[in-house]
Amino acid sequence: MFRISQFMQEIAAPTPLGPARKPPGPVVIWNLIRRCNLTCKHCYSISADKDFAGELSTAEVFGVMDQLKAFRVPALILSGGEPLLRPDIFEISARAKGMGFFTALSSNGTLIDAAMCEKVKAIGYDYVGVSLDGLGATHDKFRRMAGAFDKSLAGIRLCRDAGLKVGVRYTMTQDNHQDLPGLLKLVEDEGVDRFYFSHLNYAGRGNKNRKDDALHQMTRNAMDLLFDTCWRYEEMRQQRGIVKEFTTGNNDADGVYLLYWLQRRFPEKLEHIRQKLLQWGGNSSGVNVANIDNLGNVHPDTMWWHYTIGNVRERAFGEIWNDVSDPLMAGLKAQPRTVGGRCGACAHFAICGGNTRVRAQQLTGDAWAEDPGCYLSDEEIGLV
Ligand code: SF4
Repeated sequence: MFRISQFMQEIAAPTPLGPARKPPGPVVIWNLIRRCNLTCKHCYSISADKDFAGELSTAEVFGVMDQLKAFRVPALILSGGEPLLRPDIFEISARAKGMGFFTALSSNGTLIDAAMCEKVKAIGYDYVGVSLDGLGATHDKFRRMAGAFDKSLAGIRLCRDAGLKVGVRYTMTQDNHQDLPGLLKLVEDEGVDRFYFSHLNYAGRGNKNRKDDALHQMTRNAMDLLFDTCWRYEEMRQQRGIVKEFTTGNNDADGVYLLYWLQRRFPEKLEHIRQKLLQWGGNSSGVNVANIDNLGNVHPDTMWWHYTIGNVRERAFGEIWNDVSDPLMAGLKAQPRTVGGRCGACAHFAICGGNTRVRAQQLTGDAWAEDPGCYLSDEEIGLV
């Protein structure tokens, strides 16, 4: 995850470099249930509106929470499917809060009516994230449900009015990129606290004409818009105390692209931000972010559902997570990682960390090949 807002704060008010802060354990994104009331086009968990066999029971979930606490996991992102369809979701959530986890709910928002919001509020989630794929009809088409957008937006408004910290999560594709400016306006108009921009796990078209590639250009335009918008909010934060967070996910080249934005806007801050970006270090799948699925299988992150490193029914989470006899985990945990192609030769490798390994693996079969989703030109990564 790339926290744009933090870097914008650094531009406005630089802080000393200091030692890098290492989180005590990984953030765990936990897909507690695969059932969902929607059947979205891009769903990584391939959910459906039916019960799936073999999911962790309440008692098993509680046992895993104890494992996670022992391993010093700081945060649980409770997800699905649609987590609100799990009958024990509030029991699990209350226990998570009671154990001191930062507890977030990741929902499609359609089930959050006034009665449901009361329950959500009673838990006091630290964060409620709702996915929107665009405005109105665009969202409904992606979600394959007429009226889904209105329901999700109503859920967002209820959570906001209940005083919960609420965010919109948006995954950009060729079919919804036109809605990004409108969504940013919605976030502004509705007083949403956070905007999470997720890059599509796009495999790209290889090295040729990377800068002119329509999809890469679309990404560059989106990032320019996000950086400009986030900077405007940073100015508002300083002047009026208005706080809004912007983060991105699934493309760690964003950190490098920020340097090029800085070169145009604040060249005098370039070196300081470069040092902060080096401390961030780019991709952290398999290190600072973990995923547990509905069956208890552990994955290096949510994009690695086809690769299991163990099951919490058989081994404690900490044992699974620290086991580098698994070649993928050994590679992900290596510092620095060994990545080939243009990533291996990239002048900014120490910032980006070679980006998203699952894209390389899916396109080439080699998890250590260059990331085909890099949208920077050869000039920008110092190859020519
Ligand atoms: S070439 Fe690879 S390491 Fe360099 S910015 Fe692009 S994705 Fe990151």
